[in-house]
Amino acid sequence: MNIHEYQAKEILNAYGIPVPRGRVALTSDQVERASKEMGGRCVIKAQIYAGGRGKAGGVKLVHHPEQAQEFGKELFGKRLVTPQTGPEGLKVRRILVEEAVEIAREFYLSITLDRESSRYCLIASAEGGVDIEEVARKSPDKIHMLAIDPYTALRPYQARKVALALGLTGSVCEDCVELILNLYRCCLEKDCQLVEINPLVVTRAGWLLAMDAKITFDDNAVFRHREYPDMMDYSQLDPLEINASKYDLAYIKLQGNVGCMVNGAGLAMATLDVLKEFGAEPANFLDVGGGATREKVAEAFKIILEDCDVKGVFVNIFGGIMRCDIIAQGIIEAAAEVKCLLPIVVRMDGSKVEEGKKLLLDSGLNVQCADNLGDGAERIVRMLG
Ligand code: GDP
Ligand code: MN
Repeated sequence: MNIHEYQAKEILNAYGIPVPRGRVALTSDQVERASKEMGGRCVIKAQIYAGGRGKAGGVKLVHHPEQAQEFGKELFGKRLVTPQTGPEGLKVRRILVEEAVEIAREFYLSITLDRESSRYCLIASAEGGVDIEEVARKSPDKIHMLAIDPYTALRPYQARKVALALGLTGSVCEDCVELILNLYRCCLEKDCQLVEINPLVVTRAGWLLAMDAKITFDDNAVFRHREYPDMMDYSQLDPLEINASKYDLAYIKLQGNVGCMVNGAGLAMATLDVLKEFGAEPANFLDVGGGATREKVAEAFKIILEDCDVKGVFVNIFGGIMRCDIIAQGIIEAAAEVKCLLPIVVRMDGSKVEEGKKLLLDSGLNVQCADNLGDGAERIVRMLG
């Protein structure tokens, strides 16, 4: 689960991490007022669920309140397209107005879950800022990483090693040690999947400050934090993704034209791979889960068809707990309800598979049944071609 930068900064601040003075605005008049409060010169920052805003024109230094208001007008309602948003971009509905800061140096600092070592991993670089992805690609030696032992937790000497590796000395180094330890505490207590400060800056005056912040909560831990659901900004989510989450379906929109309905995340990944291998482009990732009911299959199918990019559907279900005839009924009902004429390929296996196939072939839908995954991928490519 994502939250906005201004919310992430409130949390960091509560953990003793210094952030710039700021105020969130919902209208351009509020932007102007906030700018006045900051003394005119301030930074205007579009709040969207994606990074890369700086380069996309979503962050601007302004010099007086009128200029702030003008830029606010320009930003509100605009769809910002960054490398992290996808081509349709994300709409700006909230703006963070912050005091402008004179930056001496920019660093990168984050803690994230490393799935390989199953540990939190601290990542830091002295080359922080908007080009961090480039640094990681071109000079990975400039990125420092430390897997944190969950038993001993992060020790002050380890944090100091990182601060020294960033080239910090004296009191700023000690401040950074404290900041890193606080960031780890925040990460643990708030059940984060990611806490990222980029850039973490040393100001001209010699203070450490989190200029930008991103926090992603672990969805599996949301139940432990009653305040999290209220922090969500639904306007930043794909309406189909919101709908899918209501039915407990894992749905992620992709850029291709073959809608995919699969049970199990592993099988879903394999399905996307095989489709790609046969030259098809998946339009989504949709996992209906192990024990999906007929109703759930029907909802999933409708969600796939609501995506206008979808020109054909590939269903790949391994009926273990699910019976194939029940899956077939779910598909037929949903397709009838939304009057689906698109080509559909169904690859299923498991109990009552023959009954399921017969139901589909007798349904009058534009449907073919496949014998295996490769055969199915080939068929959908042919039907679309
Ligand atoms: P992102 O591009 O979405 O990661 O947005 P950031 O919040 O990181 O802003 C992009 C860049 O704008 C930062 O890396 C800074 O270099 C710059 N920036 C942001 N706030 C200020 C500020 O108060 N003063 C100055 N001089 N630069 C800033
Ligand atoms: Mn940033």
